[in-house]
Amino acid sequence: MKLTRKLNDLWIQRSGPLTEELRLTSLSESVLSPKRLQPDKIQTAICGYCSTGCQLNLHTKSGKAVNITAASKYPVNQGAACPKGWEALAPLSAPDRGIHPLIKQPNGEFRKADWDEALSLFCDRFQQIQSEFGNESVAWIGTGQITNEELALLGALTKFGMNWVHGDGNTRQCMASAVTAYKQSFGFDAPGYTYADFEASDALVFIGANPCIAHPILWQRVMQNPNRPDIIVIDPRKTETAEAGTFHLPILPKSDLYLLYAVARIIIQNDWVDKRFVERSTQGFEQFSKFVESFTLEGAARETGLTESSIMNLAVRIHEKKAVSFWWTMGVNQGYQGTRTAQAIINLALLTGNIGRPGTGANSITGQCNAMGSRLFSNTSSLFCGRDFTNSLHRAEVADTLSIPESAIPSKNSLAYDEILEGVENGDIKGLWIIATNPSHSWIHRHHWTKMLRSKLKFLVVQDMFHSTETALEADLFLPAAGWGEKSGTFINSERRVGVIRPAVEPPGLAKSDFDIFKAISHQWGCGEMFDTWSDPESAFQILKKLSKGTPCDITGIKDYFMLEDSGGIQWPWNEAQSCESNPNPERRLYEDGSFFHESGKAKFVFENVQSPPEQPDDSFPFWLITGRGSSAQWHTQTRTGKSEILKQMAPNFPYVEISPKDAANLNIRHKDQVSIESRRGSMTAMASVIGTVQQGQVFLPMHYVEVNLLTHPSFDTYSHQPSYKACAVKISLRKTS
Ligand code: SF4
Repeated sequence: MKLTRKLNDLWIQRSGPLTEELRLTSLSESVLSPKRLQPDKIQTAICGYCSTGCQLNLHTKSGKAVNITAASKYPVNQGAACPKGWEALAPLSAPDRGIHPLIKQPNGEFRKADWDEALSLFCDRFQQIQSEFGNESVAWIGTGQITNEELALLGALTKFGMNWVHGDGNTRQCMASAVTAYKQSFGFDAPGYTYADFEASDALVFIGANPCIAHPILWQRVMQNPNRPDIIVIDPRKTETAEAGTFHLPILPKSDLYLLYAVARIIIQNDWVDKRFVERSTQGFEQFSKFVESFTLEGAARETGLTESSIMNLAVRIHEKKAVSFWWTMGVNQGYQGTRTAQAIINLALLTGNIGRPGTGANSITGQCNAMGSRLFSNTSSLFCGRDFTNSLHRAEVADTLSIPESAIPSKNSLAYDEILEGVENGDIKGLWIIATNPSHSWIHRHHWTKMLRSKLKFLVVQDMFHSTETALEADLFLPAAGWGEKSGTFINSERRVGVIRPAVEPPGLAKSDFDIFKAISHQWGCGEMFDTWSDPESAFQILKKLSKGTPCDITGIKDYFMLEDSGGIQWPWNEAQSCESNPNPERRLYEDGSFFHESGKAKFVFENVQSPPEQPDDSFPFWLITGRGSSAQWHTQTRTGKSEILKQMAPNFPYVEISPKDAANLNIRHKDQVSIESRRGSMTAMASVIGTVQQGQVFLPMHYVEVNLLTHPSFDTYSHQPSYKACAVKISLRKTS
């Protein structure tokens, strides 16, 4: 593991000055002929992996993408990229690229088809199911990996053109708790920070976040902080970030909510509250103060496994620093009380007035490259730009903007991802379309879900770059999609920055961009006219601007893709009025005036009692299983990072489990032994990594291996419906060899 960490560090490298020179050449040429691929030149694209949103230069020669460098003047990455970015071209030439539509035969084998046959089958089967079982018998599951323009067209096509009601995104797996928390606390899903805040804090508190490997470029921004900041890490495991930080609190799994309430109590009882901010900008403080009274220091020590002095120390550090920023990712969001935990973090920022100033904020770091675009523009859990499907005024606004009848817009909300799968299980959903995601690997307790796919669905369509994913293999119809580097559009990163991706090469074989597939389906379905104005991604972007008008995420001041490229990306909001007055400042934060999006203009303290974990270790299954990212060279289900020979050398290609030296000794397990890990739902084999990163009674599995979700416990946050991947009970034993 140590070796992996070192290699990852080496890979965060900067591009030299030549890169920038070439980038400028590329931009001027793309202005002259924006829609033609330029041979022997460079296209710029926001990276298609994580939500950091680095800009990369794609070097092409004779129509082939030959190299990648990191853009040196982009405000996000400033010439750096992590291993995934440097190797982002590798998946484009993988041998399992889908290059033809594929239709499954009665014998289970796939046969090649052309688009005419594939589109006919798609429309005939879904229309048949809809006419027999109703419009709610079909659904789609999308992704935060495709562009805003593609997400919006998919959401509009299915819900306004094809009369579907249900569609959700895989962002449900990573961001839903933060989204719900922001909506309830601030009145809109609006993380307020800008990446410059990493460099301006006196103290950074990371909760359930491991930016050293999950967001390495953001970690670099922390390392550039000139204030020698306190770096506090709250995590059961001694992660790479905890190793590099100044203060690690190794809490028991899923005890973070109790800890955060106890810290709030200490701050209130010691009169460390920023009274002016709380009075002016929040509501519900009195009730919150009363609520946290029962979260005593002794109770917190008992629940979290921390000492009373370390909890007190945490509160004192937050109090004493002038600019404290709180950052969280999946360790918080993927919990059965993820929404309330995110809000407990928000409450601390509100209590101490650490919001809206440089170096502060209650800051959720997003996961996928376009998770935020999915939140705003996918037309899934909310109508475009945070509107509400059940609000007739909102429906009328969207209908008017798109020149479609209001009756074409569903007046009810979609089922969430977990509810769609429940619908498959109970027979309500009979047709499913999965786009650019791989739930047969990534969904919690995946074995159950894969069985459902096989036995319950009448028709499954999978649209993906690769025909070999665990989910694609289950499909009745496979549609081959272009990948990042082969299409254009925009992504929105974690700090609300809209950035452009341009194609460097053409998609292989018959593969098409997701945008073009959606357009082709609209024509075959018979609703093509409704989407005539969505002629290409750039026209769709102009439609998104109109849809955003007057909303908190207003982007009407962004003229076009060229303005985005020339400005180094633009953070929303950027409206027409702002655009008339000035050029966008490259680092802008929200809430500087202490005003939030609720009608009162105030943020709300939201809180709730702590609940016991749905599953805890016991005599039969005595260990906590923690899951998380394994290395900066691995991305989620490895469908793309697994295509790079270089990335494959930077992390083990087989599952490994971290176990503490004491537990290993008790179980007679030695480093590199093969062990069995078993939960009540399934079992797997992994190599033992005996290491002090995990505490006694806990084991850690990286999430990237397909076996891991055989073990996870299918519990969900009540408000966000996000799966609780992070903690369940397992047993571990030395594997017997025959
Ligand atoms: Fe940057 Fe994330 Fe891409 Fe790495 S994966 S280059 S950190 S955007």
